Amino acid sequence: MSLRGRTPATAIPVIILKEGTTRRRKRDAQLYNIEAALIIGDILRTSLGPMGADKMLVDTFGDVTITSDGATILDEMDVVHPAAKILVEAAKAQDDEVGDGTTTTAVLATELLKKARELMDKEVHPTVIADGYKIALEEALKKLQEISIDIKGNKKGFRKVISTVVARGLLEPYKDMITDIVTDAVFSVVEKRDGRYFLDVDRIKTEKRPGGSVTDSFLVDGIALDKEFVHPLMPKSVRDAKIALLGCPLEVERTEFDEKIIMNDAEAIESFLEAEEELLKEMVDKIVKLGINVVFCQKGIDDLAQYYLAKNGISAVRRVKKSDMEKLQLATGGRIVNNLDDLGPKQLGKAGLVEERKIGGEEWIFVEKTPKSKTRTIIVRGGSQRVVDELERTFRDAINVAKALIDEPRMIAGGGAVEAELYLHLQKVSERYGGKEALAIKTFAEALKAIPVALAHNAGLDVTKTVANLVVAHERRRLGAGIDLETGKPVDMIKKGVVESLKVKSNAYRIATETAISILRIDDVIAAGKSEKREAGGYGGE
Ligand code: ADP
Ligand code: MG
Repeated sequence: MSLRGRTPATAIPVIILKEGTTRRRKRDAQLYNIEAALIIGDILRTSLGPMGADKMLVDTFGDVTITSDGATILDEMDVVHPAAKILVEAAKAQDDEVGDGTTTTAVLATELLKKARELMDKEVHPTVIADGYKIALEEALKKLQEISIDIKGNKKGFRKVISTVVARGLLEPYKDMITDIVTDAVFSVVEKRDGRYFLDVDRIKTEKRPGGSVTDSFLVDGIALDKEFVHPLMPKSVRDAKIALLGCPLEVERTEFDEKIIMNDAEAIESFLEAEEELLKEMVDKIVKLGINVVFCQKGIDDLAQYYLAKNGISAVRRVKKSDMEKLQLATGGRIVNNLDDLGPKQLGKAGLVEERKIGGEEWIFVEKTPKSKTRTIIVRGGSQRVVDELERTFRDAINVAKALIDEPRMIAGGGAVEAELYLHLQKVSERYGGKEALAIKTFAEALKAIPVALAHNAGLDVTKTVANLVVAHERRRLGAGIDLETGKPVDMIKKGVVESLKVKSNAYRIATETAISILRIDDVIAAGKSEKREAGGYGGE
C-alpha cells in the first residue's frame, strides 16, 4: 500500500515504505539523480555534430543497431535509472515535436545539471538555480528569435537547413541528393490551409529496399507497393487508370456443405464448377462494365478471375495491406467497397499512371499522378540494411525539420554560433540581477558552451582554443561565426550554409531546461528493495 499526497508531477509520491526500500533525501537525492543523468550526457555528447561518433547498440535479442542519431541511441538504450529515464523521455519529446535536435537537448540538459551541482556545492539552493535557469531560458529564446533569419519563400535557405540535417556520418557524400529528394517531396505536398502553409508529413512515405546504392534512392510521384500484377498477361502499364478498391475477395466462397458434394458426386462437381465459373465471370463482368482497368484487392483473387481480368485487359493486384488500401483511397479518391454490388462510378479512383516496374530485381506497383490528394513515396536504397535504416531515419528527420521550417520559416547559424552569441548575451543579462540568481543565469550561459565544446571535441580539435576563438569572434560582433570543423577557426556559418531551424533549436533549449529543472526539484528518491520491486512498485509507482 502507498499513500499519495497532492504533489506536483515531478515530485515523488510514495510515502509508506516496505522493508528493504532505500530512501535518498534532499541533497543526496539530487546528487544521485544528477549523477545518473550525466552518464547519459556522456554517451550522447560524443555523437553530437556531423563528426559525432557512431554507437553500437545491442538489444536483448542480439540485434545490432549502429547510429549516431541521438533519438535512436536513446530509444535503444534500456535505461533503468529513474532520473536518466526522465532525460530519455525529454529527448524523445524533442524528437516527437520537431524531429531533430535530440542530442542537443540531452547534452544541454545534462550540462545544466552538472553545473547545478557545482552551484549546490556553493550553497545555492536548487529552487534559486531553477529560477535563474528559467529567466535565462526566456532571455535566450527572445534573443534567438531576434538573431534568426527569415526564410519565408526562400527555397535556397530551406535547402541549406535540410542539408545541414542530412550531412552527417556515412551519408555526408550524398547530402545534395538527399536534400533534393526531400525538397521535391515537401514542396509537392505542402498545402495552404487558412492562408498558412501546412505540411502533412504523413503524405510523404518511405519504403526501404536494401540493395543497390544510396544514389538509387528516388522519389515516386504517388504510392509504391511491394507487389505485382497477379497474371502475366495483364498490362504492365496503365495510363488514365480507373481504379476499383475492393475490400472483398474475387473468389467464390465455398461452404463445407459444398465440399462434401464435391467429394461424393461427379456430376455435382461438374455443375458446381460451372456455377462457380459463372459466378466469377459475373463478378469480372461488373468490373468490365464500369470501365475499370485497374483493381486493387485487399483479399484473394481466384485463378479463373485472374484469367478473365487479364483477358479483358484489366490489371489487378491482390492481398494489398489494409494500410496501403487506405493510402490508395486517399490518393486516388476512390472508396474501398466490401461488396461488389456496391461498386459504382462514384467509388472509382483515378491515377494518371499505374505501372509495374522493378526495383533491385523485384516487382513493385507504382500508382502515380494521383489527382485527389498529393502523396509522395521515397524509395530508400542502400548497400546494406544498416545503410538503409540510417538513410530512412535521415529522411524522416529531414521531413520533420521541413515541417518545423514550414510552421516557422526562420533559420539560425549552426556550428555553435548561436550558443556563443547567447553565452555573451546572458552574461550581460545576468548583470541586471543580483546575487545567486545572477550566478544561476551565468551558469546557464556557461552550460550553452557545451554545444560548441562537444562539436570541437568530436572533430578532434583543440577544444579550449577553438571555443575561446569562437567567443572572441562574437565579442567582435561576428554574429554568424561558428566552428569550421576542419580548421577549428570561426567562420561565417550562414555563408558556409551550416544553418538550423529556429523552431528546432528553441524547442531543444526549452525541453532541456525544463528537464534539468524537474530533475533538480526531486528531493526524495525512494526505491523499493529489489526482491519486492513488483509489489512495492518502486519509484513513482503505485
Ligand atoms: P541533434 O541530435 O541535436 O540534431 P546533431 O548530431 O544533428 O545533433 O548535431 C547538430 C549540431 O551540429 C548543431 O549544433 C549544428 O549546428 C552542428 N553542425 C552540423 N553541421 C555542422 C557543420 N558542417 N559544421 C559545424 N557544425 C555543424
Ligand atoms: Mg540533427
